[in-house]
Amino acid sequence: LTTRTPFIAGNWKMNLDHLQAVAFVQKLHWTLKDAKHESDSVEVGLFPPFTDLRTVQTLLDADKIPFALGAQDLSTKDSGAYTGEVSGQFLAKLDAKYVIIGHSERREYHAESDEVVAAKVQAALRHGLVPVICVGETAADLEEFGASAVPVGQLEVALEGVPADADIVVAYEPVWAIGSGQAATPEQAQEVCAKLREVVASKLGADAAARTRVLYGGSVKSSNIASFMREPDVDGALVGGASLVADEFAAIIRFQK
Ligand code: PEP
Repeated sequence: LTTRTPFIAGNWKMNLDHLQAVAFVQKLHWTLKDAKHESDSVEVGLFPPFTDLRTVQTLLDADKIPFALGAQDLSTKDSGAYTGEVSGQFLAKLDAKYVIIGHSERREYHAESDEVVAAKVQAALRHGLVPVICVGETAADLEEFGASAVPVGQLEVALEGVPADADIVVAYEPVWAIGSGQAATPEQAQEVCAKLREVVASKLGADAAARTRVLYGGSVKSSNIASFMREPDVDGALVGGASLVADEFAAIIRFQK
């Protein structure tokens, strides 16, 4: 039996400068401590903007705060003449463990194709980072193809050439649910997350499928997190807006099934 540690990941997007980040992380830490939250029962990941990473890393390290650090994107390249890009090796040196890849906002506003996403997954793995691979259908996709066809296709491309023993996380984020206040139902999330796990099984094998965490993301809040976590194939959540409010994010982390 493989048990998957629930993973609650906060994607700050382009919010909180490095000073605001310090105040936020301290507040979140103390809120959880006051509630005597068992830090080993749920893994907490923070995904600040690049410019906050060094500051947050120093704070986590100095205060022994048990949150994992991640970035919101990385370059397909390792170094060189790529103005404005950030290499996976720089992220790894800052103790980033995770990196979000293929978020719908990157796909939409930066025209990231499935092939670019796949190249970024390879770049993450080259530097020992765990890719958090985001997939999901738009409202138009949902109408035309149903819920699972687009995310399944996106994940198949992203996993091209990924070794069977790679450590990865998959996040199902229906685009129509992101920032809209209209979350998927737990049943919808379960259906697609189960299909995504089947993709992991067919590409990387049964062991990888049993071990890999599949998250749901899209308008997750403290009031709906438990309903998602009760689903067998939902192993956590990727949280945007609600991850910026310390009390609310702490309540999500402390979900009770
Ligand atoms: C996200 O951006 O990954 C996300 C899920 O956002 P929100 O929680 O705000 O819908």
